Amino acid sequence: MLTAASAVTGLILPTGMALAQAAPASSPAQAGNAGHYRFRVGDISATVLSDGLIGGPPRVYASDAPEAELQEVLRRAFLPADRLTLNLNTLLVETNGRRILLEAGAGQTMGPQGGRIFENLAAIGLSPEDIDVVVVSHTHPDHVGNLRTADGGKAFPRATVFAPRADWDFFVRNDPDLSYMPVPEEFRRNFAAAIKRSVEPVTTGIELYEAGAEIVPGLTTLPAIGHTPGMANFLVQSGNDQLLLTADLAYHPIVNVDRPWLPGPDRDKDTALASRRRIFDMAAADRLLVLGFHYPFPGLGRMLKTDAGYAWVPVNWQF
Ligand SMILES: [Zn+2]
Repeated sequence: MLTAASAVTGLILPTGMALAQAAPASSPAQAGNAGHYRFRVGDISATVLSDGLIGGPPRVYASDAPEAELQEVLRRAFLPADRLTLNLNTLLVETNGRRILLEAGAGQTMGPQGGRIFENLAAIGLSPEDIDVVVVSHTHPDHVGNLRTADGGKAFPRATVFAPRADWDFFVRNDPDLSYMPVPEEFRRNFAAAIKRSVEPVTTGIELYEAGAEIVPGLTTLPAIGHTPGMANFLVQSGNDQLLLTADLAYHPIVNVDRPWLPGPDRDKDTALASRRRIFDMAAADRLLVLGFHYPFPGLGRMLKTDAGYAWVPVNWQF
């Protein structure tokens, strides 16, 4: 055993030293774990790029859960009782020579753990100038926050930005009534202001779409309203392969998929529930690969229909 252990140590050590020489330990890319995840949808190259994390009280994301049941679900998932952490899984799609980013991410609009998309782009050898198109599913701050640089410019300077028209009308062109959101009044005010501030640099030239529209060949939007007036889902297709991006139909699978609890930030909870069931039923029936924007990174899995509702089944990590 001693010989085997020595042999293993001998194999690993030089590799580790070589890596350390190639990229100093102080490099940001070496500071944590991978924030990007590559896979393919037919001929289309896809990469989940994490923008980091946000989160809040579990009650916000499971508005109608009985308190004792909510606490038991969190306890059995080994999660804290007072905070549910959500991921920010943006997706880079490369097709026909164009780089399309699905969701811009939060930046710093909803806490200090967002805004990592730029270092994750750099980790795969790209810069914000390389992005041709940005499509957002809805205009909440965690989906549009990165559109603005710290000094007020366009964070993706060459990109055409697509947003759903009904959300633009509700959040950007008007002063939205956010009294339906189960959060303090000051949070609502900051939330509304963060949206207008984030999209300000891209207001000129914004492409407003109706859900159902094709953005580019292979990328279609699907109506998924209720969470917001205009929220869309995305379907990426190539050959027989499909990927469904469910945006904010659910925040975290343990409370909104494995349990049927309603997200508090859903503006019209009945319509959101109908959208969730219609799209989850489609995902389950067609055994679609699904990307959940807020699910644990990289957010890929499938929906299983069960007697009680649905179950989320993450896919295995691919190397
Ligand atoms: Zn969101």
